[in-house]
Amino acid sequence: MKKSERKIRFDGTDPDEVNLRREGPPPEPADYCPTAGKTMHATERDAERVAAHQMAGGSPPLRTYFCLYCQHWHLTKAD
Ligand SMILES: [Zn+2]
Repeated sequence: MKKSERKIRFDGTDPDEVNLRREGPPPEPADYCPTAGKTMHATERDAERVAAHQMAGGSPPLRTYFCLYCQHWHLTKAD
């Protein structure tokens, strides 16, 4: 993992996760990246908000990454 990557634990103990859940999912529906086959998020924060929301709903652990094809952020399963 690169040092610049930040990992939120999403287990209810990370203060930033609590903030993300408080913010809720991004208000705007995201577009779809045909290359990655994933929903596009304009900012890493938006992607994290969606991840927090999905994981609160029982999704497996997720992480964000920047897609070089669409220049947006996607979610993928955490390693
Ligand atoms: Zn993409």
